[in-house]
This record gives sequence, structure tokens and C-alpha cells, in this order.
Amino acid sequence: MSTDQAGKTTALSGWGRFPVVEARESTFADESELRTILQEMNGGIARGLGRAYGDSALAGHVVSTRLYRRMLSFDGTSGLLHAQSGVSIADLLKVFVPRGWFPPVVPGTKYVTLGGAAAADIHGKNHHADSSFGAHIRGLRLMDGQGNIIDCSANDREDVFNSAVGGMGLAGVILDMTLQMQKVESAWITQHIELLPDLDAVIKAFERNAQTRYSVAWIDCLARGNKTGRSVLITGEHAQPDELPRAAQARPLASPPTRRLAFPFTMPAFMLNRISATLFNSLYFRLNSMKRGRSVVPYEPFFFPLDGIHNWNRAYGPQGFLQYQFVLPRGEEDALRLIIERISTSDSAPFLTVLKLFGPGRKTPLSFPLEGFTLALDFPRQPALFGLLDELDQITAQHGGRVYLCKDARLSAHNFRHMYPEHAAFAARRRVLDPNGTFNSLQSQRLGL
Ligand SMILES: Cc1cc2nc3c(=O)[nH]c(=O)nc-3n(C[C@H](O)[C@H](O)[C@H](O)COP(=O)(O)OP(=O)(O)OC[C@H]3O[C@@H](n4cnc5c(N)ncnc54)[C@H](O)[C@@H]3O)c2cc1C
Repeated sequence: MSTDQAGKTTALSGWGRFPVVEARESTFADESELRTILQEMNGGIARGLGRAYGDSALAGHVVSTRLYRRMLSFDGTSGLLHAQSGVSIADLLKVFVPRGWFPPVVPGTKYVTLGGAAAADIHGKNHHADSSFGAHIRGLRLMDGQGNIIDCSANDREDVFNSAVGGMGLAGVILDMTLQMQKVESAWITQHIELLPDLDAVIKAFERNAQTRYSVAWIDCLARGNKTGRSVLITGEHAQPDELPRAAQARPLASPPTRRLAFPFTMPAFMLNRISATLFNSLYFRLNSMKRGRSVVPYEPFFFPLDGIHNWNRAYGPQGFLQYQFVLPRGEEDALRLIIERISTSDSAPFLTVLKLFGPGRKTPLSFPLEGFTLALDFPRQPALFGLLDELDQITAQHGGRVYLCKDARLSAHNFRHMYPEHAAFAARRRVLDPNGTFNSLQSQRLGL
């Protein structure tokens, strides 16, 4: 075994910088190297680019796909891409946008791997129109806990496929996949920004825009009274070449250069309080008031606004932060209001809050999306926060909703079982794929999976 396979020990965390653990990190360049690592591994987990916020990709031993990132083939007629799981969305955008192809689903950062995107069955701003990432995977190969390689798809070995997609790395290591890319005519988006005075108005605006491919709203969760839920709704479509600024029309698939700033230091904890959060939210609302209406913008700032600031997670101070994302089924909008009201009167103030509309979910047991509204909130990690999030779990579970595992670092096993009723079916499939318990994360142990 080489040094990289044996693994070096480093301090690792998810994107929220909490929790931090000492972990052995192995890499592999081919299947036989991975098999050798798995033979030695006794309770570890695959890791992509570490953009899950909490402890999904954390364990005493992690297997990084960093060196397993080759694009294997592409069919320029059908748009089918065959690529290894360590390839990132950023890699795809760089290679394929200039050729007129775009990933079918992108999250709020391009720095995620295909393996991480499949394992969390991620969603984008187009879930209501295009479902989640797994719906666009035509087939994948998984290495299970015993080193067997299984070819599977939605039609063939569906049980394995549905455990790998959304399975948070617990079914095995996804080696490679065939992904359906989508055709685009330009590297630009026609964007529309609308200000909505309260929660009812933004819910209606999402419904009105159901035919628009991309939609997302930022909500001021600190506004109270008749301003509760005031929002900025941003919708968009891939632009046609004749809609672009004149200077861009000659090369519509070229991406204009984007500036990337770096967050210069870790924010001192005392600056993260209700006053700074209120200021931040008011400023955000005002800045967007100036941009409202229709415009044509490059795809990068539309999809990945935070990628423009390198290491922005340092803004939440040395204690790190938690992202809390939940979904509530359609018809449960009163519970959504209740949660927003509870947050607006709590001691914990969220800085960034994002609302999206989901279409129907898929039948993968641990996938997060179900038809309804999903809200994601970033909170600095402070002692009072944990009690508040426990309360929000209760409301979410009582109303048939669930919390997103790839954002989570603290959900209880009890609430998890309530929120994911198919957990037992998943655990049963896992016992077949991984009878020796090769795969475990800090999260799976906490959730009793
Ligand atoms: C700024 C930001 C914005 C985000 N926006 C969104 C969003 O809009 N929508 C959304 O759905 N998510 C979003 N996310 C979450 C992110 O898309 C997921 O956490 C994704 O899983 C991260 O991919 P990764 O490569 O970093 O994987 P990691 O964080 O390293 O791992 C995540 C999970 O995938 C598993 N995994 C990774 N690679 C493999 C593999 N090859 N085989 C098997 N399992 C594997 C890990 O074991 C772990 O359980 C966002 C994250 C950030 C930081």
C-alpha cells in the first residue's frame, strides 16, 4: 500500500467548520487501489470536495475521490457524459459550457463532485421543473463494502441505484456515472428580480413562476409583523444568443471573466449577533431593490453568487456555523410561517436564508426533496442555537417535513426516523451491500443508521 492509500491524518470538517475531527485521508487512482483501502477500512466514508456542511463526509477514515477525476467519454449528439465520481461541477462547466452543454442540476456552489452530488441527490433552483440530480443519472458503478463492483441504473438493479443515489456514501463508493447533460445556446441567463412584501406574496409569486426553469427567493427572516417573510425572488432561464448584450453576441458560449475575492480573516465571534444580522438582511434587501426587473447576466453569479468569495465560510467566526435546511409538504405553508416567526423572535439570527419550491420527490429512501417549499438558513454556531433547531425539528416532523442530511450536524436519531420513514428499508439494503460495516460516517452513527 502506498502512503496515499494508507492515508495521512489531518483535521477535517465540513463546510460549516463544525464538527472538526482528526481523520485519516486516503486517496486512490484506480479500482484496485480503492479495493485495497476498503479491505483495511473499518468504518469510514467517501469524501468529495467536503461541501456538505456538517458531518456526512466525516469519519475516522475518509476515502477522497480527489485523484479519481477523469472524464471518460462524451456523446455530442445525445449529451451523455461518462465521468469518474471525483470530477466536479466546476470541471464540467469549464469543459462543456463553451461546447453548448450544461449540467442538468447545479447546487449553490460549483465546487462539488459528481459523487457528492449523487450521494446527496442534490437539487438546484430548477427542482420544480427538472427534479433532483439522480433523475439525470442514466447509470452508475458502485464499489460495495466487499470490493464488488455493481453496475446499476433506475431500470437495472434499481435497489442498488436507489441506495447509492441519496445514500450519503453509506451504500458504497460511486466510481463513475453516465449523466445526461442539457443543451444551452449561451453562457448567460435572462434573470428577473422581484421584491415581495411578505410570505403570502412570495408563495404566490413562486406559483406564478412555476413555468420558469429556475427560481429562488432570499427571505428576510428577521423582519416581523406585516413584513414577515419579505423576500427577493430571482427567476431565470438560459438566454438565447439574440438576448445577450451586443458585445457578447459574437461568442454567446464564452463566459465573461469573473472576479474572485478572498475572505481575508476569520470573523471575530462578537461581530456575529442580531444587530449585524439585521443590518446584513436590510442591506441585502436594499441592494436588490436597485437591481429589480429584467436583466441578462453571466451564469456564474446567477447560480454561484457565493463562489465569488473564496473561503466565505470564515465569515461565521471561529466557532463555525450550521446550515439548517428543511422541506415542508405543499399545504403546510402555515408551518413555514410558524417557523419563520419563531426564528424572528429567537436569540439566534440567521444571515442568509433561501427559499425554493420543490416538485415531486423520487423514490430513493434517503433523498431529501418532497413536493413543497424548502428553506435553508445559515446560523453562526452559538449555544442557544441547538435548542431552537430542536424546536424547529419538532415542527417540521409534525407537519410531515424533513431536514436535509448533507446540511446537518445535529439531528437526533429519533427525529431522523420520523422524517425519513423509509430508513429501515435503506438499512436493510445496506446490510446486504455492506455486511461488515465498512462504511460509516459521524452522521450515520449519530442517526443510528
Ligand atoms: C455554498 C454551498 C451551496 C450549496 N447549495 C446546495 C444546493 O443548492 N442544493 C443542494 O442540494 N446542495 C447544496 N449544497 C450541498 C452540496 O451540494 C452537497 O453537500 C454535496 O454533497 C457536496 O458534494 P462534495 O463533493 O463536496 O461531497 P462531500 O461533502 O465530500 O460529501 C457529501 C456526501 O457525499 C458522499 N460522497 C462523496 N463522494 C462520494 C462517492 N464518490 N461515492 C459515494 N458517496 C460519496 C459523502 O460520503 C457524503 O455523505 C451546497 C453546499 C455549499 C457549500
